[in-house]
This record gives sequence, structure tokens and C-alpha cells, in this order.
Amino acid sequence: MTPAAETRKQACLDSGIQYLNFVAADVNGDLRSMEEDRSNFKKYFAHGLGVDGSSIPGYAKHASRSDVLMMADFEEETAFRPTIAVEDMSVVMCDVYGPEGKPHGGCPRSVLKRVLDMYKAKGWTSQMQTEIEFYLVHAGEDQKLVDQAGYMELPPADKGFGYRRKLAELLAGAGVSVRRIHHECGPSQNEIELNLRPSLESQDSTILSMWLTRMLAAQYGWDALLSPLPFGMGKAGNGLHQHIIVHDKDGKNIFFDEEKGQGLSKMGLSYIAGVLKYGKEITAVFARDQETFDRFNNKGHEAPVDLMWGAMNRSALVRIPAAHGSDIHMEFRAGDASGNTYLMAAALLLAGLKGVEDGLEAPAEGEVVGHLPLTADECEKLLVESPFINELLGDHMREYLIETMPGKEVKPLHG
Ligand code: GLU
Ligand code: MG
Ligand code: MG
Repeated sequence: MTPAAETRKQACLDSGIQYLNFVAADVNGDLRSMEEDRSNFKKYFAHGLGVDGSSIPGYAKHASRSDVLMMADFEEETAFRPTIAVEDMSVVMCDVYGPEGKPHGGCPRSVLKRVLDMYKAKGWTSQMQTEIEFYLVHAGEDQKLVDQAGYMELPPADKGFGYRRKLAELLAGAGVSVRRIHHECGPSQNEIELNLRPSLESQDSTILSMWLTRMLAAQYGWDALLSPLPFGMGKAGNGLHQHIIVHDKDGKNIFFDEEKGQGLSKMGLSYIAGVLKYGKEITAVFARDQETFDRFNNKGHEAPVDLMWGAMNRSALVRIPAAHGSDIHMEFRAGDASGNTYLMAAALLLAGLKGVEDGLEAPAEGEVVGHLPLTADECEKLLVESPFINELLGDHMREYLIETMPGKEVKPLHG
């Protein structure tokens, strides 16, 4: 453990909290938690906290070899998040290890860390920023909308104003850096946008934010619907856009070329070429719901379907937001919350890196070079055959995703 991590661990022990939730996301992106009394913190920090991996999607396949270890990650600056006000919880983000003491093949956070190690080896750092869209509805089967307001509307039409502010405060208290909150296009649709942060922290915060979004909604007697297209075709979908910026070992933004004024660098274009080349594979990794494909097909609602890039173009897969000189970066707009955002982030970062390392040339701005997968079968084929996905995920995770493709009957975990 590095001295900085040791200090953070000690700060957690010294904080006086009585209970700590050891949390990790399963392959589907849902948080799982084991709450422990302080008498055991020290032991579990040192050796890991053993839980039943056969009851968590994506881990052990058989009850007979089911133990997995939750390892609190104090190397990550913000892994320990004391006192999340909504239920007075404290959490520590964990990696999941197998009994032999190495990251488990089903641990999505470890997949992201493996890709981040490739960046580290080049002296590169990456930062990401996510936008989380969701609908607020009254709890209950008929999912009655809470308002009929539209993009950036204010009260009285907007009924989510107080909720959003409260959510932003909760997130700030939980160590999540929030950029902005607003009413989105659809009636009752809202958005919370996080700030640009180092990639692992960004995805930890995203997973926590999605959970808190739901938890706070429940306190209002509402449900927060984060799925890609909860109200079907013709209605606005929920994206989970990911922004990426990368700096090289000299601290220079690889997307920025001073000579080109506001333009993209050659390296930035190669990075984007990688994301376009592997755009289908990236989708196969995060798509966990038929609604993913319906959202792509849902023309006129700002979700992408074509593999293309464009400055400021909201129907492009990769958008270059209005440039800010040395802050120029890319936004990936296909993402949604159906699956695991660590895996989505890892796939994106690997695709961009490959684009640069292979010196790929980007198509012209606006040129369509294919389309996103529009069926679960297309994704399944990629999961089976793509060397890119195999390199990214390894066999264990890949096989789990194949076995549980949207539309397939999910097999019982115990067997
Ligand atoms: N809701 C749109 C989507 O499904 C995105 C709208 C926006 O650009 O924020 O991706
Ligand atoms: Mg939005
Ligand atoms: Mg966006």
C-alpha cells in the first residue's frame, strides 16, 4: 500500500464511524453492499471481506466455489466516502478479488483499472465526466409523470427542482463533484452532470450517483427511471454520455493542437478513430437492455445511431463539444445506464488508446462509417468473436455477458 493510501486508511479508522458499507458494483452496474461494524474494519482492510460471490451477478458460477473478497481501495483518493446523508451511510469503494488474492474475472472496476494501467505505462492520465439522465415518476405501477415541463424549464412547471437541488447537495456530501443540474427535454426528465475527474473516481462517482438518484426519489414517493427508453419510441431516451480528456506525460492535452486554433490534433483524431472503429464493441459491452437498441432507433431525440463524429453535432456518436482551446475533448453519446459504467469507460479508453497506438486515421467530420448494433444478436456475436472484447474483458466476464444477453432467459446463479 502506498503511504498516501495508508494515511487514508488510517483516517477512515480514526473517523469514529461505527458502520461502514463495503460496496462494489456487479456486472449489471448495480451496487452491492455489506455493512460492517467497526470492530472488523482493520481485519477486512488487510485481508478482504469475504462474501458469497455465487449470489452476485457475474461472480462465482457455483455455490461450491463461491467466496469472493471485497478489498477496500484506499489507493483511490475518494474511495472512502463518509456519511452519505440520505440514510446516514458511509461507504468504501471496493475491488472484488478471488480467493487466491487477485482481482476476480467478474470485477468490472478491476477491468477499468487494468486499462488505466496501460495509460500509466505511457505516462498518460485520463479524466472523464458523465451526464446522467433519468425520469421522475410517482411510485407505482402506472408510472405517472411528476411534471410536463421541458428542457431547462423552471417551477412551477418543473416539479423536480427541489429534488434536484437536494440530490446535488447529497452528492456533494458524498464526495461527488457536481457540475450542473437541470430539467431535460422529456416531461419529468432530469439530468445531473458531474465534473471532469480522474477516470476511476469519475466512474465510482457515477455509480454512486445513480444509486443516490434512486434512493432520494424513493424518499419523495417517486421512482427514478434511468433505463434507456422507459416510455418507448417517440419519447426522449435517457443517455449516459461520457466525456474524455487525456493528457500526455508532459501534461499536454492530446486532443489539442495549438497550430490548429480550435481544431483537433492529429493524435486526437486517431483517438476518435479508435472509438469509431470499436464503437460496436463498446456498445456490446455496456448494452444490457433491449431499450438500448430502441433508443438508437428512436430518430429525432438526440441519441446516436451512426458511427460518425462531428463538432457540436448531437446525433453523432462522438461529439466535440464547442471547443475551449486547451480543454478540447470528446464526448461519447451512445452510452446508457443499462449496464456497467466501469466497463463502458474501460472499453472507451482502450478503443481510443488503440486508435493512437495504431495511428488510425479518422473519417471526415460527418462521414458515416457504419452504425451502432441494433440487436442483442449483433452484440452477442461481437462478444463471442471480437479480439478487442476478449482483450478487454477476459473469458470470465465475456462469458457472463454472453449468457445474460438481453432477451435471454437468465439462468439461476446457484447451480
Ligand atoms: N436524451 C438524449 C439521449 O438519449 C440526449 C440529450 C442531450 O444531448 O443531453 O442521449
Ligand atoms: Mg442531456
Ligand atoms: Mg451530453
